[in-house]
Amino acid sequence: MRISLLGATGSIGQSTLDLIAQHPDRFELRGVTANQDVEGLLAIVQRMRPALAAMADAGAAQQLRSRCRELGLTGTEVLEGASGLEQVAADPETDRVVAGIVGVAGLPSVWAAVTAGKTVLLANKEALVCAGALLVQQAKACGATILPIDSEHNAMFQCLGPDYRCFSRPVGVERLILTASGGPFRTWPADRIAKAGVSEAIAHPNWVMGKKISVDSASLVNKGLEFIEAHWLFHLPADRIEVVVHPQSVIHSMVAFSDGSTLAQLGSPDMRTPIAHALAWPERISAGVSGLRWDQTSRLDFEPPDLQRFPALAMAQACLAQGPAATNVFNAANEQAVETFLAGRLAFGGISQAIEATLNELVSRLSDPNSLDAVYEIDRQARRVCADWLKKQPSP
Ligand code: NDP
Ligand code: MG
Repeated sequence: MRISLLGATGSIGQSTLDLIAQHPDRFELRGVTANQDVEGLLAIVQRMRPALAAMADAGAAQQLRSRCRELGLTGTEVLEGASGLEQVAADPETDRVVAGIVGVAGLPSVWAAVTAGKTVLLANKEALVCAGALLVQQAKACGATILPIDSEHNAMFQCLGPDYRCFSRPVGVERLILTASGGPFRTWPADRIAKAGVSEAIAHPNWVMGKKISVDSASLVNKGLEFIEAHWLFHLPADRIEVVVHPQSVIHSMVAFSDGSTLAQLGSPDMRTPIAHALAWPERISAGVSGLRWDQTSRLDFEPPDLQRFPALAMAQACLAQGPAATNVFNAANEQAVETFLAGRLAFGGISQAIEATLNELVSRLSDPNSLDAVYEIDRQARRVCADWLKKQPSP
């Protein structure tokens, strides 16, 4: 099976490469993409020899091209820019596309893969948050299959059984129960959370991930994005999706059925498990991850999320009720605010304030996007409004 990997140099990318390398008889890496990390992508090209390598940044692609030439890596065609990424995503020789780009920047390539009718292993939740309705429609029209690899959604997908397909309403399901670790600030008082630093925010207690999603996990924005993601993937209304904090991150999510059964998927917090599940689906392969040890997993705790200390989760839920323009603005403002926080120019508490201010300023003036261009236009407007708000904030 030939795999193309969007966002190969990132955390999801590395886990996927590890699995492909573990199963050389089963998988072939056909294409890879990155943004600017020339050395990172070059190392992958050297090791795995994909036919296609695309970089979003044209200058970086130029450098990669000359480095490949120097090293005699002539079997890899280097592509550049948005069209290069879309070419890898829609490549006719590719069987499955892993969508591991971070942020709305991943939407064009997810769209290209969906339009080409691919089986798309979706990590890039922001694509669904910004363009859920459009992606569902396009996937149905083009015969694309979505396999979720976000661990919670992959867990629910597993609980729904082998015949379930994303975007259809699951039979006999009462509720989806989306688990959250609670992040590094789960037990912190509000005033301490507001002043938290970058190193504290990216120190996730259970998972090792890219910086943006780590900050999102600390603010519970990530759970908000996942709530919206679950709505689109599993075609259920918001009142049938529940968030529960489960600090051990052993249960990755659950599905409650109408007969009183609740099914859960349990495992170690290692993304190679959900990625392996989707790479091999409907079969199973080893992932290099050991199963749970009952002598080391003695407790499973649950508590409700604290929406006072983590207001972004409630905001995301409200945005889903308001509609696609609101979720689009939520995502854009968060991306802008997280970037500013990571650059040391915004306090942690400013992230949810920036989202709230942007939503208040903009959403009532917008109508829901009916095309990808409209999605990108809302994204641009929200970033502008958010940037204006951010400029007025004192440095932390
Ligand atoms: P990383 O930051 O580790 O990696 C991001 C990848 O996207 C890199 O390959 C990066 O390239 C590329 N990229 C960044 N910006 C652009 C751009 N403008 N155009 C094209 N490519 C770009 O992120 P993660 O792997 O942590 O997350 C990826 C996605 O998966 C996110 O949507 C996240 O929410 C989701 N996810 C991640 C999990 C995890 O465990 N990490 C778990 C569940 C979901 P470069 O290296 O050149 O910058
Ligand atoms: Mg997740």
